[in-house]
Amino acid sequence: MKSNYQVIVVGGGHAGIEAAWAAANTLGAESSVALVTLEAQKIGVMSCNPAIGGLAKGQLVREIDAMGGMMGLVADATGIQFKLLNTSKGAAVHGPRCQSDKHAYARVAQRFIKSRPEIEVVEGSVEAILTEGEQSNLVATGVRIGLNDGGELELHAPSVILTTGTFMHGIMHRGQDTTEGGRVGEAATNKISDALRSLGFELGRLKTGTPPRLDIHSIDWDALPVQDGDEVPMPF
Ligand SMILES: Cc1cc2nc3c(=O)[nH]c(=O)nc-3n(C[C@H](O)[C@H](O)[C@H](O)COP(=O)(O)OP(=O)(O)OC[C@H]3O[C@@H](n4cnc5c(N)ncnc54)[C@H](O)[C@@H]3O)c2cc1C
Repeated sequence: MKSNYQVIVVGGGHAGIEAAWAAANTLGAESSVALVTLEAQKIGVMSCNPAIGGLAKGQLVREIDAMGGMMGLVADATGIQFKLLNTSKGAAVHGPRCQSDKHAYARVAQRFIKSRPEIEVVEGSVEAILTEGEQSNLVATGVRIGLNDGGELELHAPSVILTTGTFMHGIMHRGQDTTEGGRVGEAATNKISDALRSLGFELGRLKTGTPPRLDIHSIDWDALPVQDGDEVPMPF
């Protein structure tokens, strides 16, 4: 594995794969992009429900698509149900949405990433951002990675993109229980938060506010209307 890249992307979630894809597209065939993520098998995992797009979000997927991004392509390839929302209103507020096969989505996203020789996937946890310069004018030069086998690795690049999603010092609340974690079944990443703090960043906390899940056996299905997808699916 080389140690110098043009771009290092930290995190293989939805933002990270777009960033790596965009870097490879923009910089061309000779580009070198490292995509550092905790587990290669988890690249492109849909953390929550399997919907892509929706009101005020479908437009974003189309904008990503217009810029040559990946999300619309992966959603179309794995979509089970497509629905254009808000059709009673004008075209500007129509919201394309699809329900994707959650497992296929991650598989296809991983296939897209693998298809690009410019992108090298590195498994491990970024624990620090390497910098040079004065505290008032720090420049990122790379990352220090804690490898899954216990070793350490330093990679260098003039651009470092952080897309760590819900993982940095992640906390999960379920009912009255609170546990540490990036998402269910995956650990939080804490060292990178401490490293960012020591570089002078102020850390805050956002929440995803996932609605409670319903027990399928507790639902009176006969009392509910069926919501079909559109007869003619409109892809992203
Ligand atoms: C239970 C749950 C429900 C959610 N519900 C919704 C919802 O309904 N709608 C919605 O829009 N969003 C929801 N979200 C938020 C969801 O996380 C984001 O929408 C989406 O996944 C963000 O994509 P991302 O690429 O920013 O981050 P993520 O998909 O979280 O990906 C982050 C990636 O970074 C990697 N990573 C993290 N730290 C490091 C490190 N130090 N070194 C290397 N790799 C690292 C992880 O392995 C992961 O691959 C939910 C999240 C959770 C956990």
